Amino acid sequence: MLRAATAAAALFPARFAAAPPAAAAEVRPPLLRVLGALRGGRGLMLGTRARFCSNSSASDSEAAAAEAEAKAEDATVADGEADGKASSAIVSTNPRPEDCLTVVALPLPHRPLFPGFYMPIYVKDQKLLQALIENRKRSVPYAGAFLLKDEEGTDPNIVTGSDSEKSIDDLKGKDLLKRLHEVGTLAQITSIQGDQVVLLGHRRLRITEMVEEDPLTVKVDHLKEKPYNKEDDVIKATTFEVISTLREVLKTSSLWKDHVQTYTQHMGDFNYPRLADFGAAISGANKLLCQEVLEELDVYKRLKLTLELVKKEMEISKLQQSIAKAIEEKISGDQRRYLLNEQLKAIKKELGLETDDKTALSAKFKERIESKKDKCPTHVLQVIEEELTKLQLLEASSSEFNVTRNYLDWLTVLPWGNYSDENFDVHHAQQILDEDHYGLSDVKERILEFIAVGKLRGTSQGKIICLSGPPGVGKTSIGRSIARALNRKFYRFSVGGLADVAEIKGHRRTYVGAMPGKMVQCLKSVGTANPLVLIDEIDKLGRGHSGDPASALLELLDPEQNVNFLDHYLDVPIDLSKVLFVCTANVIEMIPNPLLDRMENIAIAGYITDEKMHIAQDYLEKNTREACGIKPEQVEVTDAALLALIENYCREAGVRNLQKQIEKIYRKIALQLVRQGVSNEPVQEALSVTASEEPTVADSAAEKVENLKDPAVEDASLANNITKPASEEANEVDLRKEAVVHDVHPTETSKEASLSEGNKGTEGAKEEAVGKAIEKVVVDSSNLDDFVGKPVFQAERIYEQTPVGVVMGLAWTAMGGSTLYIETAKVEEGEAKGALVLTGQLGDVMKESAQIAHTVGRAILLEKEPDNLFFANSKLHLHVPAGATPKDGPSAGCTMITSMLSLAMGKPVKKDLAMTGEVTLTGRILPIGGVKEKTIAARRSAIKTLIFPSANKRDYDELAPNVKEGLEVHFVDTYSEIYDLAFQSDAGQKQASS
Ligand code: ADP
Repeated sequence: MLRAATAAAALFPARFAAAPPAAAAEVRPPLLRVLGALRGGRGLMLGTRARFCSNSSASDSEAAAAEAEAKAEDATVADGEADGKASSAIVSTNPRPEDCLTVVALPLPHRPLFPGFYMPIYVKDQKLLQALIENRKRSVPYAGAFLLKDEEGTDPNIVTGSDSEKSIDDLKGKDLLKRLHEVGTLAQITSIQGDQVVLLGHRRLRITEMVEEDPLTVKVDHLKEKPYNKEDDVIKATTFEVISTLREVLKTSSLWKDHVQTYTQHMGDFNYPRLADFGAAISGANKLLCQEVLEELDVYKRLKLTLELVKKEMEISKLQQSIAKAIEEKISGDQRRYLLNEQLKAIKKELGLETDDKTALSAKFKERIESKKDKCPTHVLQVIEEELTKLQLLEASSSEFNVTRNYLDWLTVLPWGNYSDENFDVHHAQQILDEDHYGLSDVKERILEFIAVGKLRGTSQGKIICLSGPPGVGKTSIGRSIARALNRKFYRFSVGGLADVAEIKGHRRTYVGAMPGKMVQCLKSVGTANPLVLIDEIDKLGRGHSGDPASALLELLDPEQNVNFLDHYLDVPIDLSKVLFVCTANVIEMIPNPLLDRMENIAIAGYITDEKMHIAQDYLEKNTREACGIKPEQVEVTDAALLALIENYCREAGVRNLQKQIEKIYRKIALQLVRQGVSNEPVQEALSVTASEEPTVADSAAEKVENLKDPAVEDASLANNITKPASEEANEVDLRKEAVVHDVHPTETSKEASLSEGNKGTEGAKEEAVGKAIEKVVVDSSNLDDFVGKPVFQAERIYEQTPVGVVMGLAWTAMGGSTLYIETAKVEEGEAKGALVLTGQLGDVMKESAQIAHTVGRAILLEKEPDNLFFANSKLHLHVPAGATPKDGPSAGCTMITSMLSLAMGKPVKKDLAMTGEVTLTGRILPIGGVKEKTIAARRSAIKTLIFPSANKRDYDELAPNVKEGLEVHFVDTYSEIYDLAFQSDAGQKQASS
């Protein structure tokens, strides 16, 4: 391989050197032109040879060659018949070359010299050099150049150090002669510069004997090619093959193209032996093969040898080509890639898609984390550091780069150790809580306790508070309020229907589009590590097909576990122990038990009418008014209107619907005001005219006079009355003005107004009119339905006095409490026909309690009226109205018994009585839930007497006095007590408590 490379390297410059100077080519004969062509480029070629022959540098050789050429141009030499003019063109000397029979022998260490080629050599032996100089002076500038044989046992193909040079110089006389090949070349010494001698080959010689030892001088025979037949086909064919092979070789290199042309153009004049020499000389073949060609005098054989060499040359050339191609491909592939990448970058930049480059990104992340370094846990810093290093190593266009970038973005943006300063001022907190919500004293108290503990400890601890209650009772809004009171950031997320654990715990980073869980998102968005997180609808948590969201939530909420909460995406533990969690639920029974265990439940039962009134007056109205941009003096919603609104439109436990209705009213008012404002200008004009110029028309306009003053403060201050033109009446259809309804007589009003206005004169009237142009809109119970439509609720009471077989019960739903009737009727009667039919969308529990009621009722009747066989002989039908609403639960047990007994005995129950309680088969009354809701519902339905199980007395006692107001409540242990209360109105009075 090394050889091949060397040969290729040798060939390359040689080919280059072959380019002929055009001028020389024109005047010289073809063969000479070819040689001249070689000479023309010999600078480089000799340079190559110099590499082959000596240690001198290429530039030295070039200089020498240039000089040699100059001399060669002048010289002419006759070189026998075959060489003819060619030889004469090269050298002209007195003694012709063929006359030189004794020559100084010059050893050539690397290659033999072929006739017609130049070769520079270095002569270190001073004696020899001197002899050569003498010869030149004596006009015998010839010497014999002989290739040096390799030392015994060395491989001529192996390149070793340059120690051979020394040994050549040391060789003298016979030793040297022994080492020289017998056949060499008669060389003309064309120049001597220092120790550099440039030789030009002439003809073949063979050493016959030694004449002188130092410098070695030998006698020689001049060798001539064996005669050959020019027309011999084989010789011709071989020649052509050499030529075509040479051409083939040359073709592959564009550098030699010119030479090929020159060479092939003049093939006709080129004789066969010369061609063989030429081929061998320019080939990069090893010296022994070249020497073989030199020694061969048979032209055919020489041609064959040369053919072998050039064929080999062709193979090398092909190899060179494939090497060049492979390297070129690799380089161009890399370049192409680079170019495309650059183009892509440019395109991205142009489209604005170019993302920050790596260093800018890293700098951004570093800067972010720098400010948090002191508070950030070390394990997080370590991960950030690692990821930053990784980022630098990744290709910006790779997908992993994006993953790492996003990950770093999340890691660095979180508020590591950044806590908002908590406000432990209890008074301040109380003030804020009261400011936002009416009532809710339980919740407020609990929050204040929490703050007090925080104040004493100096730090606050994370807690889980669960606010449960019907919709619209202010669970969410109180959460917001707590955050404000504690000076914590607020974040809310709803887990209703949440089925994917990844929503809470995050996705693993390996997924496409992976995101951290809600909690990490929360921390990012609030920017502090101790926010108040409101988890809404925790009772409506979905069931995941893979993993249980409740367990994931448990990990998030449990103070034991959330110190090291591990989000799948973030993959580093985060401390959530300082987060205050507030959960909301409608029904706490639906909350998974392990979760419920860890929460502190605060139930908000719903509001009674009285509370709703306060909320509506002090909070909802105020907020809505501000939200609608209406000034307090522009509107008035009377208490009667609010009461009607609450009673007839918004009976549910919460106040969300009430808020909606109030908003509806205010929106309508806003529209009225705007409409009025738009038509205000003409009104003022008309008013001023009416007031000043036609005071007497006031009588006829009496119906249109409306007083806008609040009836409560209304007195004779008639200046507040405004006269309206008839044209405005249409706009006012929806607005009932107080004066129309209330006590001020319109005629009087208008008269008085006219009088006073008349006295003041036109100007005064105008001013007054402008000031009063915006009228106060009053909403009263009488015009309420103009704003909110017809009442949606009919009275819950269907019966004023419940008939026989009908008893009022109390139910409790997620929407709050309500009253319901239990009705029993007899279907048929007959011996042993006793049976029970149930309707009204009853659940299993309720059906069972009807059966129990049937049994217990029968037992009671047997006890009270032993002769009454009603239950045994009657088929009964029990129905619970509002048949479209599904109902369930055991608490209607006692109501059902009472209803059946009422029918059995044909006695209606006491008026305004409602009851609730689960009954056992033995007639004992068990406690029920939702005491407050049921009480509120009873109050709403104007119930006077209530019956609760004794076990619920404690719940009832805890109720606020305003809820219990006006109720006569009985607590019972057994059904017989109810029997007494329901059917014997005077009995049991002494147990009553109100
Ligand atoms: P929930 O979360 O319980 O369904 P919200 O918190 O959304 O109910 O409350 C509905 C609306 O009722 C809110 O605008 C809230 O301000 C108002 N609200 C509820 N309770 C009160 C209260 N006690 N005092 C003042 N406003 C209240």
